[in-house]
Amino acid sequence: MPPRLVPPTFFSNDSASLLTMFNTTIAGSLPKPAWLAEPEKLWPRWKAEGADLAQAKLDATLLWIKAQEDAGLDVIGDGEQSRQHFVHGFLEQVEGIDFEHKVEMGIRNDRYKAMVPQVVAPLKLKGRVHATEARFLRAHTQRRIKFTLPGPMTIVDTVADRFYGDRVKMAMAFAELLNEEALALQADGVDVIQFDEPAFNVYMAEAADWGVQALERAAQGLTCTTAVHICYGYGIQANIDWKKTLGTEWRQYEKVFPALAASSIDQVSLECIHSQVPAELMALLKGKDVMVGVIDVASEQVETAEEVADTIGRALQFVPRQHLIACTNCGLAPMTRAAAEGKLHALAAGAALARERYAAA
Ligand code: ZN
Repeated sequence: MPPRLVPPTFFSNDSASLLTMFNTTIAGSLPKPAWLAEPEKLWPRWKAEGADLAQAKLDATLLWIKAQEDAGLDVIGDGEQSRQHFVHGFLEQVEGIDFEHKVEMGIRNDRYKAMVPQVVAPLKLKGRVHATEARFLRAHTQRRIKFTLPGPMTIVDTVADRFYGDRVKMAMAFAELLNEEALALQADGVDVIQFDEPAFNVYMAEAADWGVQALERAAQGLTCTTAVHICYGYGIQANIDWKKTLGTEWRQYEKVFPALAASSIDQVSLECIHSQVPAELMALLKGKDVMVGVIDVASEQVETAEEVADTIGRALQFVPRQHLIACTNCGLAPMTRAAAEGKLHALAAGAALARERYAAA
């Protein structure tokens, strides 16, 4: 049996409080097992229905809880096994949306076309959205748990508006609903609530102008840890092609990080490994916990512990170590299960190596 890597706890030299250095967590999604849904697809078809599907989703969730624990991760997620897509999983529980008549829309500034539902009436939650999987997650691990929700700006960019006639107004309406669900998730025992806002990297000026404000509305009143994940998307071809057009330096974060640094959000998740993001942009997040992407989601190649530790070392030039969390660049949903399992282990092993290397640095 290979030796288990149990992350030790360190006293930070920078603070008198007991802190765990380089905690590990994933951005959110993990691949669905082939018996649950079509593998390696972003919008997979389910392989069961009704009560069988509900059970299969929880079985898959349990499998990934165990895999994250076995790898040695500190903050555990549900791997988003119960939703077909990270945005539409939430929308399915919202009244005022017409799913019957989807329309084609260019999303993320026309990077790709998708068939999206339409907002046709005032928005209201039909009831709880993620109670089942959040409570299931809480019941099956002793570790801290994280739950992900789509951010208001990204939702607005993934539905067609036939009612509000104003992106900001619609984003604020969604933010209120997200807040309702987030407060309920907190009551379910969730430790970290993360909003996913890939749209922040596409509409930078709007993100700084009203996107962060909508995000704070969604997080209003939460006393658990709050986080935002901003990435360059899943490792799918449309995103790989888009990244090629962004030049040798990706400075999108530069526009929105100052607004986030001034916000009430606790943690910011960003891409780092194999990206063209200049590491010094992380310095703009002064005072925040930074979830540094040390695992590439656009390649099936599993990172070595050394590569992961090297990436942490680069980020340490700009992020105080008590604020550095090791994470994946984005969700792992479209990858093979074997690669994702390998990457969970690489993440934990790399963080453990970084603790050895940089504990006294
Ligand atoms: Zn992402």
